Amino acid sequence: MAIQEEHFKKVISHAKEYGFIFPSSEIYDGLSAVYDYAQNGVELKNNIRNYWWKSMVQMHDNIVGIDAAILMHPTTWKASGHVDAFNDPLIDNKDSKKRYRADVLIEDYVAKIEDKIDKEIAKAEKRFGDAFNLNEFITTNQRVVEYNQKKEAILSRMAKSLEKEDLADVKSLIEELEIVCPVSGSKNWTEVKQFNLMFGTKIGASADSAMDLYLRPETAQGIFVNFLNVQKSGRMKIPFGIAQTGKAFRNEIVARQFIFRMREFEQMEMQFFVRPGEQKKWYEQWKETRLEWHLSLGLGIENYRFHDHEKLAHYADAATDIEFKFPFGFKELEGIHSRTDFDLSSHEKFSGRKLQYFDPELNESYVPYVVETSIGLDRMFLAMFSSALQDETLADGSVRTVLKLPSVLAPIKAAVLPLVKKDGLPEIAKEILEDLKWDFNVDYDEKDAIGRRYRRQDAIGTPFCITIDHDTLQDNTVTIRFRDSMEQKRAPIDSLRELINEEVSIRKWLQKMQS
Ligand code: ATP
Repeated sequence: MAIQEEHFKKVISHAKEYGFIFPSSEIYDGLSAVYDYAQNGVELKNNIRNYWWKSMVQMHDNIVGIDAAILMHPTTWKASGHVDAFNDPLIDNKDSKKRYRADVLIEDYVAKIEDKIDKEIAKAEKRFGDAFNLNEFITTNQRVVEYNQKKEAILSRMAKSLEKEDLADVKSLIEELEIVCPVSGSKNWTEVKQFNLMFGTKIGASADSAMDLYLRPETAQGIFVNFLNVQKSGRMKIPFGIAQTGKAFRNEIVARQFIFRMREFEQMEMQFFVRPGEQKKWYEQWKETRLEWHLSLGLGIENYRFHDHEKLAHYADAATDIEFKFPFGFKELEGIHSRTDFDLSSHEKFSGRKLQYFDPELNESYVPYVVETSIGLDRMFLAMFSSALQDETLADGSVRTVLKLPSVLAPIKAAVLPLVKKDGLPEIAKEILEDLKWDFNVDYDEKDAIGRRYRRQDAIGTPFCITIDHDTLQDNTVTIRFRDSMEQKRAPIDSLRELINEEVSIRKWLQKMQS
């Protein structure tokens, strides 16, 4: 745990020091859980968004994109259920005066049980070596069986109490588990209360005519209210999807863990409209497709797991999270929800407009069912950034800090570096730069010794360094240094574009989804 915490601190400080993420309005001491993306951060974020958009919109002929407004008619949020039900259960510790999400306190407790299970497994793996059978071990080892039973009992009781809105029982559970406040260490808790997460605002100039609005807490509703507009204007046939990326706002009770839980964040969502009765098939299909998308970035399956929901949201008949191994453990990165016809039916009711599709094959009209995939762009950023950041001990004993981002996502694809600031080398370097910048985001650096320049590029994740030296003057070749292996090779200047493209093109990376 200590090593993980250490790593997480390093992630936050590296993000600031190297121009990825700054606290919002920092000169006024910042605003809690709001962050600004800096010069390198915005590139990484754009690249992630683009990677998602291409895989969803460009690669599927039955998915189109939209960009709906953040402000929506307030009835939207009545219809969606957010006004009445978009609550989190909160609890205060009377001694530290700190506020917590009651469900998160319980989940953190369960995570500790999971840690114990993992430790037992690791011990047994070591003891039994090749003969170790994980399935047999977790079903027969007494201690692990008991841990698992305890975990299941806690989670299902919490799910039931939250479902029934039995907040007194949620508090009893916290007391029975003897959960203490991480700050004060005391068990002196208030009652559990519901807290609505939507930010309110007003539209209109005069006090009389002003209308109460909400900043959207999810992008999905902008898609539902436009369902028929898109279907008709795009002549879409079911099954089809509408994708969107954009800002969402939630007044989170506990906003910690850097950009994992923000009050202003960005979502990448896709709502897929299907025939009623076919939702299960599409739900399974999208689970698989989305996991493949994550795996295409090359981080390895051991960093991901599905977590099926025990407590389903008011709109869902099945839901799962794709969890990622963040520096603070496995946590939700993306949600895949089978949302039934809840949203469209509800908008029909509240708006009085028909939101139905005439299915020519069935010769009937119906309200489509929806399977959605919803991923937080900022969480995806954190997932990529935190797993890429590594300290590597080199053969000579020195340590280099390197950001081993998938090269398709790297903010800068190549740095062009004249070995010295004279003899015509900067001029050639700038010519190369001028040519490459049509296709890639490239950087030029002539300051300091070459080794230091390499390290600066390693720290921001640049996959290629191109060095121009005196041999270049003779034979038009340059040295290419690769970020991960630190290998260097000579290559002709006119081969650079293709060489870089081969490594960073979206085609190359997304094609892994099909293999
Ligand atoms: P959590 O349980 O962590 O609060 P959620 O289940 O409420 O998340 P969804 O409503 O399913 O989240 O939203 C879809 C995605 O949006 C999440 O998987 C996550 O990646 C992202 N997301 C949600 N809330 C936040 C937030 N406060 N900050 C950053 N990203 C968020």
